[in-house]
Amino acid sequence: MTQKLILVLNCGSSSLKGAVLDNDSGEVLLSCLAEKLNLPDAYITFKFNGEKRKVDLSAKPDHTGAVEALMEELKAHDLDSRIGAIGHRVVSGGELYSESILVDDEVIAGIEKCIPLAPLHNPAHLLGLRAAQTIFKGLPNVVVFDTAFHQTMPEHAYTYAVPHELYEKYGLRRYGAHGTSYRYVSDETARFLGKDKKDLRMVIAHLGNGASITAVANGQSQDTSMGLTPLEGLVMGTRSGDIDPAVFSFLAENANMTISQITEMLNKKSGLLGISGLSNDCRTIEEEAAKGHPGAKLALEMFIYRLAKYIGSMTVAAGGLDALVFTGGIGENSDIIRERVLGYLGFLGLHIDQEANLKARFGNAGVITTADSKAVAVVIPTNEELMIAHDTARLSGL
Ligand code: ADP
Repeated sequence: MTQKLILVLNCGSSSLKGAVLDNDSGEVLLSCLAEKLNLPDAYITFKFNGEKRKVDLSAKPDHTGAVEALMEELKAHDLDSRIGAIGHRVVSGGELYSESILVDDEVIAGIEKCIPLAPLHNPAHLLGLRAAQTIFKGLPNVVVFDTAFHQTMPEHAYTYAVPHELYEKYGLRRYGAHGTSYRYVSDETARFLGKDKKDLRMVIAHLGNGASITAVANGQSQDTSMGLTPLEGLVMGTRSGDIDPAVFSFLAENANMTISQITEMLNKKSGLLGISGLSNDCRTIEEEAAKGHPGAKLALEMFIYRLAKYIGSMTVAAGGLDALVFTGGIGENSDIIRERVLGYLGFLGLHIDQEANLKARFGNAGVITTADSKAVAVVIPTNEELMIAHDTARLSGL
């Protein structure tokens, strides 16, 4: 039994998300979100016992200021001395890390080395890491990489069909993302179905604002839809997903756009938002599509069709299909999307159980296919923070 609590930190360039978890029960005792870091009106919001409290960070509006404020809040609730270790989410561990690791100077140098692969995120993680080392003196820190789970992909899945020297010189290849979620969800799926994960060929769709899909066989990632960056693959909230790379020269020549403008457009103004012209939020898209808004209807159909197409291709990567798994905000809640995706997959022998599909929402896991289906489709809520807490406790010896 872990007596100590785990602090999980997820630092972005202008934000810091934190949670204090009981590693045994998974209970979140306190959570926080610092926003607008490095701007004069930075602030942090704490949630404790269902109550929210906002604290101004303008005196020290950076990651260190946010971690200091968090320490003060923990002290106010007598939680500071109960923290046993800190777990940090890190976006890219490149090819250096295939599992979570206890932080030392070498690991910090490794995360720095991976900065070209996550130029916005890895520097922010390092700021959070250094602030945690200074403010929570003496506590072990563990880093958990989004890319680590995908390091098992075979070479033919992660290599791009471009001159090979680009991989050798610059590390240009598929790395994938959402790895911590996939690791958690593949374990939970096996547990839920009462099977050994080594015996399951799974296709797992993590559908949130960012969305990706992964083939898992033998408990290992075989292929995934996100690539060098999270831009590749499915239609997402604001990202285009797969697109002909020639759009860069086409738009440069015809729309006079620069590389950075096109990159920004593909990452921030595309996907559900770009197609519908309305919103990146799936709920809004579903509501407006139901009212007949043509852009919302098209956005929804494209999201569903691309996802179904990818499920087909990921069954190849998994060597067949025993379980199709839906997770993430959309996967866990949108019965409409799940039903319509399964509507494309009758040829794989998957048939929806309407009633079960409606019940599997708001954190409820459940099989959503009929008993005569050739494979199961199942909804499994993800919990990346808990996975980070588990790794952190294990590697810290708690
Ligand atoms: P993030 O990638 O930011 O972690 P989440 O996993 O929280 O995102 O997922 C956010 C997405 O989930 C949003 O598009 C939101 O509209 C969608 N979502 C949440 N609840 C529902 C619901 N009941 N029906 C459809 N979509 C939902």
